Amino acid sequence: MRALIEKLQKDPEDIKTLQGIIPICTSCKKIRDDMGIWNHIEAYSIVHYQTKFTHGTCPECAKKFIWNNFNK
Ligand SMILES: [Zn+2]
Repeated sequence: MRALIEKLQKDPEDIKTLQGIIPICTSCKKIRDDMGIWNHIEAYSIVHYQTKFTHGTCPECAKKFIWNNFNK
């Protein structure tokens, strides 16, 4: 336990993760869990309602975005 606290004091990025700041796709509102899987927010937020969201784009929407820009 003490080792964990020491690690967190040295590594602020880990604290962010533990506090539950997770990526959310700005396009389809899916969110990525700690396993790297994108879930629909309705399903996820029931379990993780205390988490804060940080915005990003899931691979699916990233592909769509690139595709749309190439076809303009
Ligand atoms: Zn998306």
